[in-house]
Amino acid sequence: MRLFSRLFEHRYCAFCKSPRRVYGKKHVDLTNVLATAALSGLVSVAVYGRLDPRAIVIFCLVTVLGETFVYFRWRLALVCRLCGFDPVMYKRSPAAAAKRVREFFEQQIADPKFQLSKSPLLELHRRHQIRRRKNHERGLALERKRSRSESARRSPVVAPKGPVVRLGHERPGDPSHL
Ligand SMILES: [Zn+2]
Repeated sequence: MRLFSRLFEHRYCAFCKSPRRVYGKKHVDLTNVLATAALSGLVSVAVYGRLDPRAIVIFCLVTVLGETFVYFRWRLALVCRLCGFDPVMYKRSPAAAAKRVREFFEQQIADPKFQLSKSPLLELHRRHQIRRRKNHERGLALERKRSRSESARRSPVVAPKGPVVRLGHERPGDPSHL
């Protein structure tokens, strides 16, 4: 256990590379424990008029609550607010972390404020839109080509009907040319 640990740290998100200021304190430090012991003693003197053994119960309770609070604050602060990436979840299961980022992304693009924000996901969203539009145009072109070839197959080329052209060596009334 450290005597004193820094509350904030500057880091970069591993997914969107945004600079972040996160809670770096994962556990209570020795200073917190000593302060809790002093506070428990003071409470004991104030309530019971002397140092009572019940101060130990207060000390344990406050320390456990403090540790839980500090740990959950650290854990929640790890998740990037810009892209939803969770490094702890990524260590356990990369697929689950990817799913979480995808869900976060879908939630963001459904929000109209997202287009006006400075989110690093905007560039990703624009690229995604361009790719989707190109795929759609490609699909339409393929569909048009397919329908054209099908209609050409269904109606084969028929010689246009027109006046019968008689060649010079044929004589009118001669049935041999029929
Ligand atoms: Zn991020």
